[in-house]
Amino acid sequence: MKNDLMANDVFRMASTQFDRAADYLDLDESVRERCKWPKRLITVTVPIQRDCGKTEVFFGYRVQHHLSRGPVKGGLRYNPNVTLGEVAALAMWMNWKCALMGLPYGGGKGGIACDPRSMSPGELENLTRRFTTEMLPFIGPKTDVMAPDMGTNAQTMAWMTDVYSTYTGHLVPSIVTGKPLELQGSAGRTQATGHGVAFTVTRAFYKLGIDDSKATAIIQGFGNVGSYAALTLSGYGVKITGISDITGAIWNPKGIDVEKLITHVAKEKGVKGFPGAEAIDPDEMLTQPCDALIPAAMERVITKENATKLQCRVLAEAANGPTTPEADTIIEERGDIFLIPDVLCNAGGVTVSYFEWVQNLQHYQWTEQEVLTKLETMLEKTFENVTHFAKTHQTSHRVAALALGVKEVATVKATRGLFP
Ligand code: NAD
Repeated sequence: MKNDLMANDVFRMASTQFDRAADYLDLDESVRERCKWPKRLITVTVPIQRDCGKTEVFFGYRVQHHLSRGPVKGGLRYNPNVTLGEVAALAMWMNWKCALMGLPYGGGKGGIACDPRSMSPGELENLTRRFTTEMLPFIGPKTDVMAPDMGTNAQTMAWMTDVYSTYTGHLVPSIVTGKPLELQGSAGRTQATGHGVAFTVTRAFYKLGIDDSKATAIIQGFGNVGSYAALTLSGYGVKITGISDITGAIWNPKGIDVEKLITHVAKEKGVKGFPGAEAIDPDEMLTQPCDALIPAAMERVITKENATKLQCRVLAEAANGPTTPEADTIIEERGDIFLIPDVLCNAGGVTVSYFEWVQNLQHYQWTEQEVLTKLETMLEKTFENVTHFAKTHQTSHRVAALALGVKEVATVKATRGLFP
């Protein structure tokens, strides 16, 4: 299994990043191995009847990296390229992120290899219900709590809540987070990740002496994370000059009207053809001059090929794992880019998921203002911890963030000891 996981590009990348942090911490070999490998790797087949009457079998995955610090927490993604290795890598990153933010969780991630864009709402509902049923022996508010990720949303979480609650015999809202408000979702959860991304970008601008109202940003991905990051940043006065998604990329040096673009995307299912901007090659867009470049779509898009050409002051990793280790080395050697690593940049999502879980367990609802204020307080503290660690230990922001997260997990594992 170790070899199978290491054969996957994304897992190898997460593993290389872990090794750098573990080397840095000089972790004891036995704790190091226990921290690195996932506790549970679950693969299930998910058969559903398509609208045409044909039965199709999909593969679904859930990886629970470790349960030493509490239940595992992490998203569920629907994407054609989902594999067990990718999910295992994402679960590992969730670990360090939860530990870095001080949340009482281990990392988890799940996915179904499918193309949600080509499926009807009914097919997606059946797929979600069947997957949740297959997962019943492995999930629960104290063991594994899922949330939306690429290709899934609040409705997906509502179906999961319904399946789990039906089997339990009573409503269990704490089984997932990112639910609709009427099902005891949290105020502020939908925009939490994008809001957190925008907040960390402005913290970086502050450190670099960049005025928000004179700054520009380019965003790859205009789904949940990208659109709310764009909306929040433009609310702070930042000009969004380039945005791309799966349908193409658009460019306007005077600034894209984000609210109008959201309306366009809701209607046209993509940014392509937006009247308030020109079309641009999506790869070229990434290397245009800007204050913040925000990859908010998928893994491994900042590579050794484009890392030398980047013209941004801040690289804000809204997606998980957008920068390859080779590109990381180039960025570190260049020394002119302020990197906000994914485990910090997009931690707003899991932090507000934690708030939602806490509210559900307490049967109490917080206001949006309370949620966002608490989120900003936690992000600010962690941002300062990471930048302070990097400065005092003369290391990169990524190594600093991972080292802080890995150390937390390693300490808990060492303290709990080996069983039996
Ligand atoms: P989403 O499905 O809502 O949106 C994904 C976006 O990426 C879409 O606009 C899609 O068109 C675009 N995209 C896909 N392929 C692309 C390509 N080749 N080029 C350009 N754009 C492309 O997903 P999301 O929830 O916004 O998640 C985006 C990233 O953020 C993922 O890496 C996810 O793991 C990460 N993330 C999400 C959350 C969350 O709360 N949703 C939290 C933490 C991290």
